[in-house]
Amino acid sequence: MRVFLTGGAGYIGSVTSELLLNEGHEVTIFDNLGRGHREAIEPRADFIEGDLRDKDSVADAMAKVKPDAVMHFAAYALVGESMVQPEIYFRNNVVGGINLAEAMLANNVQKIVFSSTCATYGQPERVPITEDEPQRPQNPYGESKLMFEHTLKWYQELHGMKPVFLRYFNACGATETYGEDHDPETHLIPLVLRVALGQRESVKIFGDDYDTPDGTCLRDYIHIVDLARAHILALEKDVSGPFNLGTGTGNSVLEVIEACREVTGHPIPAELAPRRPGDPARLVAGAEKAETILGWKPKLADMHTIVASAWKWHQAHPNGYGA
Ligand code: UDP
Repeated sequence: MRVFLTGGAGYIGSVTSELLLNEGHEVTIFDNLGRGHREAIEPRADFIEGDLRDKDSVADAMAKVKPDAVMHFAAYALVGESMVQPEIYFRNNVVGGINLAEAMLANNVQKIVFSSTCATYGQPERVPITEDEPQRPQNPYGESKLMFEHTLKWYQELHGMKPVFLRYFNACGATETYGEDHDPETHLIPLVLRVALGQRESVKIFGDDYDTPDGTCLRDYIHIVDLARAHILALEKDVSGPFNLGTGTGNSVLEVIEACREVTGHPIPAELAPRRPGDPARLVAGAEKAETILGWKPKLADMHTIVASAWKWHQAHPNGYGA
């Protein structure tokens, strides 16, 4: 299939481009290089530098490519930043999404695989979280993703679009070529690995008095290659609607740090810090729907496997893509 892929210079978009091309699909990446990295753009893909907030730019690109389907990764994705600058989240993630969807309508492109998030659920009532959990986002980031889900749901009903909403849990790990490089970095695993690289003294544990077995937060860490595989299944199958993507298993902050110590052989000093505002105690996916309907099962779910892949990439790219 010919895929129009936004955000291919970012973390999840770069790995999905790599896997799509390995499987014989054609990929055109549309990215403004605002937060992504030119070095993360698959050389086998076509590249159009453009910004989703510029309606004409995305309309022209879509008309030129005439894809069979769209994969939409380009977005701002920092919860904390969204609490300070909500307007850039609504403009980029919602207005940008609407411009993309209108370009699809104008060119009769129906299928879109959209990067959504477990942040659309907010504080869940039940864990594991299934797709029918009420969506009550607690921050503008989650809200912006939910607003675009709703837009696409109406275009499905009224214009015959085929949207798939992939609600990710905690994406992590790397391939040989592409890994995680955010600025500023706020995610647990890359921050822990920076200690092992000697770039930071220690890692902070944000709270140890949660209602969890060891008192630290539980998250569902899902390998980026497993995530990318789910996108390809969602593309190739005749499906629509939401799918949670996680392993169904929670790992605590302490367990993640311990796995990083074992993989790197570095003692990784850790110090207790106050809770981070807005962190729910447990976010774990109920991902049975993805297994039943997409035929998707994580293959790289083991925390050591995840950390080992990330460690290999960070050792090869100690300064990220900027090296
Ligand atoms: N966390 C931590 N120290 C850090 C960064 C994160 O203790 O330096 C915790 C955070 O509070 C959360 C978990 O690690 O419970 C995963 O956080 P991350 O930012 O990686 O992902 P999120 O779950 O917020 O999307």
